[in-house]
Amino acid sequence: MAMNRIQFQSGLSMLKFLKDFGTEAQCEQALEVARWSDGFHCPRCNGTAYYVIRDGIRKVFQCRACRHQASLIAGTVFQGTKLPLTVWFLAIYLVSQAKTGLSSLALKRQLGVSYPTAWLIHHKLMQAMVNREERYVLDGRIQVDDAYLGGERAGGKAGRGS
Ligand SMILES: [Zn+2]
Repeated sequence: MAMNRIQFQSGLSMLKFLKDFGTEAQCEQALEVARWSDGFHCPRCNGTAYYVIRDGIRKVFQCRACRHQASLIAGTVFQGTKLPLTVWFLAIYLVSQAKTGLSSLALKRQLGVSYPTAWLIHHKLMQAMVNREERYVLDGRIQVDDAYLGGERAGGKAGRGS
């Protein structure tokens, strides 16, 4: 799924995020590169020549060869959404930056959307992350951030050092 390949660095500041993904055109560009890293390929005939047409705010690619129309968001976690990609990208940013998780209510406040919308975004993103985790097998040197291993032990000092 496309969002898997749009990576926000863990240390990405909000200012930098807004500079890189603050407009619909920037988000479209990022999604386009994530879907077709070597340019558009028609899902039907694999043609690479296309026209760009618009369906409301949505970018749609029309294949020049077979005239198949492929929406930029079709087949991604954003499929079917009427929200601007900027809202989704900001949601991904907020969820990915929140170490201890983010509630749908917090997302509603920060995105300025209704609670049902925030809830839907939240659940779609969480599901996409679960799907992603299932597909990856950790390999090489694994570094775990702020983890506690094992059970309780008497004595010893309190805190992460122990
Ligand atoms: Zn085609």
